[in-house]
Amino acid sequence: MSQPQTDTHTTARLMDGTVPARRIVAEATATAAEIARRTGTTPCLATVLVGEDPASATYVRMKRARCAKAGIRSRHIPIPATTTTAELVATLTALSDDPDVHGILLQHPCGPHIDERAAFEAIAPAKDVDGVTTHSFAAMSFGLPGGFVSCTPGGIMRLLAEYEVPLAGRHAVVVGRSAILGKPAGMLLLAQDATVTYCHSRTADLAAIVREADIVVAAVGRPRLIGGADLKPGAVVVDAGYNPGNIGDVDFDTARTRAGLITPVPGGVGPMTIAVLLAQTVRAAAAQLGVRGGV
Ligand code: NAP
Repeated sequence: MSQPQTDTHTTARLMDGTVPARRIVAEATATAAEIARRTGTTPCLATVLVGEDPASATYVRMKRARCAKAGIRSRHIPIPATTTTAELVATLTALSDDPDVHGILLQHPCGPHIDERAAFEAIAPAKDVDGVTTHSFAAMSFGLPGGFVSCTPGGIMRLLAEYEVPLAGRHAVVVGRSAILGKPAGMLLLAQDATVTYCHSRTADLAAIVREADIVVAAVGRPRLIGGADLKPGAVVVDAGYNPGNIGDVDFDTARTRAGLITPVPGGVGPMTIAVLLAQTVRAAAAQLGVRGGV
């Protein structure tokens, strides 16, 4: 049974992702420096971008800039939009075999003619710092140590922990079931003993299900899909959606009058995602370079 909720909320508390993200990045920066001091090698993230989609190019630029600030090298591999799946797989396999590369990020979507699953699977699990391979998903789902989580769900979980949101026994509704976001977010919530419901494009009466949620994770990509009237008073609302014009999947203005805690867009989930990517890159580098303890 859900906890009883009051109907008296007027303004939700903000779950600001920028502050914990800064701390995670500071830790990653210190670790990267320590790895370089001990081994003479600076951790390196390879970024692979297929085509010239402006939004994807911006995301990659942003991630590389954050790497540079954190003392992590990045090697950028631009690939023409006309590439084939086989060529992309060959590039990713070569990066997986390259000892100078510790983490690999394949920016997606790669285009409709590419078999993205085949491309992801060409990334060595030890370098899968974006958590996109079947191996990483299975390790996360089974709770095995040492795997890498998909960065956005990983960031969401860290944000919930930061704000001490109790999860055990709470009803979490995840709206969206993509392999890199909705699905793993639900698995991570389940691992922390939440009772999880997934919703998707074929869900009948989304609003009725969301209204039952103690915790809502919006991961759809539809501007303002979830409004304040759809929320249980006092709900914790995590908006992972990012739509043109800095608009989330949740209608922030109405939702904040019903929710207990809510992430802003931007400044909520986004910074946490990049922070987890950097943290996982230095962790991968430490493991590959044999650096143990104290980093
Ligand atoms: P995606 O692969 O397109 O998946 C969208 C999901 O939403 C699908 O599962 C789809 O259902 C579901 N959906 C679509 N319309 C719906 C509706 N009307 N009602 C309920 N569910 C619906 O997208 P994604 O890659 O997971 O990304 C989702 C959003 O998160 C996007 O806005 C993206 O920009 C954002 N994002 C943010 C970050 C970050 O760092 N903040 C990172 C990654 C993504 P079906 O499965 O039935 O098609």
